Amino acid sequence: MSFQNPVFIPGPTNMPEAIRQACYMPTIDHRSPVFGKILHPCLDGVRKVLKSESAHIFIFPSTGTGGWEAALSNTLSAGDGVLAARNGMFSHRWIDMCQRHGLNVTVVETPWGNGIPADKYEDALRADKDHKIKVVLATHNETATGVKSDIAALRKALDAAGHPAMLFVDGVSSIGSMDFRMDEWGVDVAVTGSQKGFMLPAGLAIVGLSEKAMKAVETAKLPRTFFDVRDMAKGYANNAFPYTPPVGLMNGLKLSLEMIQAEGLENVFARHHRIAEGVRLAVAAWGLKLCATSPDVYSDTVSAICTPEGFNATDIVTVAARDYGMAFGVGLGEVAGKVFRIGHLGSLTDAMMLSGLATAEMVMVDLGLAIKLGSGVAAAQEYYRIGSGKSSRLAA
Ligand SMILES: *Cc1c(COP(=O)(O)O)cnc(C)c1O
Repeated sequence: MSFQNPVFIPGPTNMPEAIRQACYMPTIDHRSPVFGKILHPCLDGVRKVLKSESAHIFIFPSTGTGGWEAALSNTLSAGDGVLAARNGMFSHRWIDMCQRHGLNVTVVETPWGNGIPADKYEDALRADKDHKIKVVLATHNETATGVKSDIAALRKALDAAGHPAMLFVDGVSSIGSMDFRMDEWGVDVAVTGSQKGFMLPAGLAIVGLSEKAMKAVETAKLPRTFFDVRDMAKGYANNAFPYTPPVGLMNGLKLSLEMIQAEGLENVFARHHRIAEGVRLAVAAWGLKLCATSPDVYSDTVSAICTPEGFNATDIVTVAARDYGMAFGVGLGEVAGKVFRIGHLGSLTDAMMLSGLATAEMVMVDLGLAIKLGSGVAAAQEYYRIGSGKSSRLAA
């Protein structure tokens, strides 16, 4: 274990020192206007990252999983229909949560490595003549497989079917790192957490609700107390929470949002794309394949890399941690032992990424895989390098 090396797990992500400092603050009165000066910039900043004009933003002391629960319990009643695709561990877990809440889930089984099939969603919606389906779920970025799905295409499927269901999107590993357009895509609930694109420790569930979702809150009957957005909204109106807010984490979020705006949201997305492309070129140079089945679904925040038949991919993660003090992600669920994951989101530079690729190469050679040291690193270097005459991409 080394505290000097960056981590390459797809969350929690590396924390910039300034964000760590911002989280570490003296106690304040969380019912005073001082807290309002942290709370309201957080709500406004999150809304901007979601590319929404009018979304109602709620921040809970929780994690992304709590964000899922806040989305469901505030808007639905037992027996309501839900349409969801299962194409990885995270979409699987959200489906499981729906079922445990007594919702009636139609599952579109999708090969792990594929994106959400918009055409199958459209068929299911067209077949649902009585509009029993109240919500369509989508995991924007399946962190288990490194697969992104086309949310605009799902919106089109809903519209083409003339179906009034709401669209809920898990953006835990995409929001703040990959383009997300809440208003343009007609997303009714967007869910994220603090420890991925926002470069914070785990501890915050962050959700955005559309006006349509806020209307559903009034008729929904699932039990909710801790996650009740009506109590939360009342609290916010008085610069407060219905309970004690995690002030330090929220102060960190405020700074994170300022840093994202200072870099420029589109620049943040471009940086993630560039770093991810370098990783993908390295994977190709190693002669390995991604779990993601086609370039249109490649994730810019995490790559799940398939290892050869008969090789235990988890060994790469074990040896990297034991011998080099570096963290990569293991395969989850159906792809456990078949893939290892390189997380490349949050506070990351090209140079940091090269250190991760170099270490992954050493580990794979140590484990006897036929990989040439430096091959993946060189492929990424060639892509990352500025060359003479081009301007620096470092912020001033
Ligand atoms: C990390 C993650 C979650 C779960 O978030 P927790 O903060 O661990 O509860 C949900 N969905 C996706 C896509 C994720 O990457």
